Amino acid sequence: MTKERLITGKTKLLGVIGHPVEHSLSPVMHNAALAQLVVGVRVSVSEREASGREDIANLGLDYVYLPFPIAPENLEVAIAGFAAIDVVGFSVTIPHKQAIMPLLSEITPLAQAIGAVNTVSRQNNQWVGTNTDIEGFVAPLQTTYKQDWSQKVAVILGNGGAARAVVAGCHQLGFAKIHVVGRNVQRLQEFSNSWSNSPISENLQVHQWEELPKLIPQANLLVNTTPVGMYPKVNESPLSGEEIANLPKGAIAYDLIYIPKPTQFLKQAEKQGAIAIDGLEMLVQQGVAALKIWLQQEIVPVEVMRQALQKHLGLG
Ligand code: NAP
Repeated sequence: MTKERLITGKTKLLGVIGHPVEHSLSPVMHNAALAQLVVGVRVSVSEREASGREDIANLGLDYVYLPFPIAPENLEVAIAGFAAIDVVGFSVTIPHKQAIMPLLSEITPLAQAIGAVNTVSRQNNQWVGTNTDIEGFVAPLQTTYKQDWSQKVAVILGNGGAARAVVAGCHQLGFAKIHVVGRNVQRLQEFSNSWSNSPISENLQVHQWEELPKLIPQANLLVNTTPVGMYPKVNESPLSGEEIANLPKGAIAYDLIYIPKPTQFLKQAEKQGAIAIDGLEMLVQQGVAALKIWLQQEIVPVEVMRQALQKHLGLG
């Protein structure tokens, strides 16, 4: 029997800020988790066993997660308002990921390195920003596909915001070489320059699209961070059949896109004998990392979050 979710005077506020924000999947995922925690239904046996805790039921956490559409010109006043009404934390999406940074008291080194914040929490009456996209991106590479990456080569298509988290994630995993491929020479150069004070620059090289034929045969991990192939243009791919034919058998093809699942890019790569990872798990895991920060606890119902998204997207 489903218990009614009761919002009371004690319910604490979480949310997502963006403009627009109505298409955000975060409320679906986070409210599924929060409903689970408030009614005290047990998380999966494996999660409870991993935690070593038996008392995970009846946590009695009382939170709700709301979408907040905030126009850029209202960002500062909205964040001041959030402090006034004791918002516990919030996710940040387009177009606020950079603009939020000057409004925060503290930004983690990871978020500073990426140059974008996607998660904010209230700590000691101050706003602290971080970026959980890296954690989301590396999660499947650290678990299901875990291996020694120190002799491996990553090739990343695109040099936008998500590519920054992917580069930082590949560096964290210890990749020997990280090649970023883009189509705009000036933006590529800016991307490269932005890492010049970071140890990441030692393993990072940027390339124009024409260089792909020589890079793809070296790739152990090939990541699509461009929006090419995203719904509704589901028949598009960032690579031609000819280009992807040179991907080594057994390489991992990782697409950050989660609709459709799989993308044309992943279908092409699988035909070449590659392992395919889609963007849904990254979405789930960046949310998991954020929820852990807000609730200040290591245990959150990951499977509930994954299933809520899959169901919402018609995949479950
Ligand atoms: P972004 O900042 O706009 O960057 C997009 C990049 O793709 C830019 O480098 C852009 O190049 C390049 N690009 C766009 N169209 C292209 C084309 N036709 N051919 C070649 N390159 C092209 O976007 P973003 O925030 O990084 O997001 C990128 C994708 O990742 C989106 O599909 C987004 O949904 C997905 N994403 C998924 C997750 C997840 O949790 N799974 C998280 C974040 C992002 P130019 O600079 O030349 O335009």
